Amino acid sequence: MPNAKNACPFCDKERFAHQIAFENKHFYVLIARSFLTPGHVMIVPKRHRADLNAITKDSESALFRTLNKVIYKLQATFGAEGFNILTNIGRPAGQTIPHFHIHVIPRSRKEKNNPLKLIFNPGSRHGSKPSRLDVVRIVKRIKRAKV
Ligand SMILES: [Zn+2]
Repeated sequence: MPNAKNACPFCDKERFAHQIAFENKHFYVLIARSFLTPGHVMIVPKRHRADLNAITKDSESALFRTLNKVIYKLQATFGAEGFNILTNIGRPAGQTIPHFHIHVIPRSRKEKNNPLKLIFNPGSRHGSKPSRLDVVRIVKRIKRAKV
């Protein structure tokens, strides 16, 4: 009888073995099954957790070393000039596989018909603009939160 872990596509190495660009003690780096841009990869922790609990004290520095290596490899392989580094945590954010992973999407000025249509521009005027008082209230709420 399959359990949640067996049903997880990132816990069944046979299913993604051909997608492994490289791996280390804590992470697989997998070529995405459908590219947003050529070279789109995912950094997948070997530990099955849906959220950031997938990253342990032992693996957090390895995550940044792995990310840096991915970036250098994508620059060398695809001539990437920029990157989007994205993760979806929880269904409202678009998470479909309950196994934490990080997308690394190489970007280039030469992209034609950019399928991603994604530009994260936090300084743009597209979002709502909170008042200074709203900002102060939000800061207070976050500081008070017991975690
Ligand atoms: Zn899993």
